[in-house]
Parts: sequence; structure tokens; C-alpha cells
Amino acid sequence: MNHNQQFIFMGPQGSGKGTQAKALAAKLQVPHISTGEIFRQAMSAGSELGQKVKAVVDKGILMPNEITNQLVLAKIKDKNGFILDGYPRNLAQAEFLDRVAPEVQVIDLELTDDEAVARIAGRWNCSLCGAVYHLKYSPPKQEGLCDKCGGLLTQRADDVPAVIRQRLQTYHQATEPLLEYYRGRGRLLVIDGTPPIAEVTENIFRALGL
Ligand SMILES: [Zn+2]
Repeated sequence: MNHNQQFIFMGPQGSGKGTQAKALAAKLQVPHISTGEIFRQAMSAGSELGQKVKAVVDKGILMPNEITNQLVLAKIKDKNGFILDGYPRNLAQAEFLDRVAPEVQVIDLELTDDEAVARIAGRWNCSLCGAVYHLKYSPPKQEGLCDKCGGLLTQRADDVPAVIRQRLQTYHQATEPLLEYYRGRGRLLVIDGTPPIAEVTENIFRALGL
């Protein structure tokens, strides 16, 4: 079995983690597995496990490791390659994953908190068609209005700097032990998430010899 196509993506909000995870999955032609997506799938399938997921989501509490591990295992077993996005979230999950995929490698997209805040706080969405703008990187032609449909641009209420910084702090606290875990096992690849998306993709491919 060829295990060198098993990857985990980590990175703060604004790092482009989801986009890069999808790009690598497409390049390697392996599934991109995001935990958000498998929770949604399980809920809509309505299985016994899906009902448990729904109960947890409805309560707004943290998903128990046992449920998350089972759902991820069902997706990755018998697969030589996969890209995990949003998993593992803690050491218990990482240890579980190592029992079923002991050679999985981590790609960590690094971004400073200042850059993450600048990226997230600059985002505006069209309230009508959902088009995404960024005040710095892709501003609309007319302030506050969508280029495509003329709709009003709005910003998510929790995408303000103070709230973003709080989320980033939570992210670092949760992730640091995981990065240490994989670094100590020689399975951590750190990639600078600061350059434009296409350049980061190239850097990842090059680092992996693709
Ligand atoms: Zn629009």
C-alpha cells in the first residue's frame, strides 16, 4: 500500500486551508474529507450515528471524540490517499488516527495573526448573489455594492478584529500541542500561507515533489 498520499491540513482562519486542501486532493485525485461536511452528511442520512450528531449540534456542544473518530474512520478506511480538513482537533483524535493511518503527514499553513485579521476583517459578501469581495484584494467598483448584481454588501457580525483575535487565540491553544505531536514524529511540513493562493499551492506541490 502506498501511504504517502495521506495528509492533514492545518491553518488558522484566513490561511486558505480549505482551498489548498481541495487543490491537493484534486492533484492527487484523492478525497477531500472535511469534518463539517461529514457531520452534515451523517445528519441528512439520518442513521443512528447521524441522529447522535444532530443531537450534539442542536445542543451546540463540542462533538465527542468517539463520534468524530467513527465518522472519519468510515471515510478513510481502505483508502490509500485522503486529505483531512478539520481533523484531528485534539491529541486524543491524533492518537486514534495514528492507529489507523500511522504515516499520515501534516501540512501546516502558517499565517501571522495580523495578516489573518486583515484578511478576514476585509471580507464583504453580496446579500443577494453571495459574491465575495475583499476591501484590499478584490474591492467592488462601487463601495458597498455588488459589481455583478448591484446588491448590498454585508459583513458577518463576528468578522470584526476583536472577535477574530479571540478565535485565533483559541485556534493556537488547541493546535499547538498537535503541531508539537507531529513535529516530534517528523511528520510536520510548515508552509508559509502569506503569498497569493496560487503561489502557496505551487509551494505545497513543490515541497511534496509533485
Ligand atoms: Zn451580487
